[in-house]
Amino acid sequence: MIDTHIHADLRSGEDFKEMYLSGIDVAITCGFYPYKVDNEIVLLNHLNRILKLETERAFEHGLKLKVALGIHPTNTKINPKMIYESLYNWIKSREIIAIGEIGLENLTVDEINIFKKQLDIADETKTKVIIHTPRKNKAKVLKVILDILPQHIDEKLAVIDHINPSVVNSVINKDCMLGLTVQPQKMTKEEAITILNEYGFDKFLLNSDISTKASDPLSVPKTIRELQKQNYNKKDIEKVSFLNAEKFFKI
Ligand SMILES: [Zn+2]
Repeated sequence: MIDTHIHADLRSGEDFKEMYLSGIDVAITCGFYPYKVDNEIVLLNHLNRILKLETERAFEHGLKLKVALGIHPTNTKINPKMIYESLYNWIKSREIIAIGEIGLENLTVDEINIFKKQLDIADETKTKVIIHTPRKNKAKVLKVILDILPQHIDEKLAVIDHINPSVVNSVINKDCMLGLTVQPQKMTKEEAITILNEYGFDKFLLNSDISTKASDPLSVPKTIRELQKQNYNKKDIEKVSFLNAEKFFKI
């Protein structure tokens, strides 16, 4: 199994061990600094920590981490130039598999400018992007994201994450992949299964988004087990278990 969106730097080794023992082979860990940051050196240090330290820490417990780095919308009170340069370097050296997570949260001018620039970098370098959508005002912010996307990037390079039953209709016909985050306070496994049942398995990626917020490190295996229990088609289950993620991120 592949958990397509976690925050390894915010979790314990015990979580990685449990995830690995529950059948998760690979997890994609994303950049997000959970405290106010107004200095790009601090943010760069956070991103380098994920790349160098967290990958080693997870692997001590068997879990392979793939890394997505970028400027999260809540981390945009910085001078982003240094991070843009680093993104080019990490892409060139193939140290990251995507730019992420990026996106919009409060629709500030800084957020929008930094989001657009990261989409431009991704499009120029043909790199995948993991796009965050917020808990609050999801439909409104998603609409702005969908207006910006085609002007800056080939939508086939993007996964729009944290899609839930209230907004799935507005994105299902886009060329993007769609992330389903099964997390307490965000979406239950039953709601994720309802979406898969209605819209099919081809466009979706599953993840836990484990972070400092209420989280379940095993939400992906629990959802996969529930699909198996309900006798969904084996090939369909494999798509959201790992096939879609392997194909999209080329991992
Ligand atoms: Zn996240």
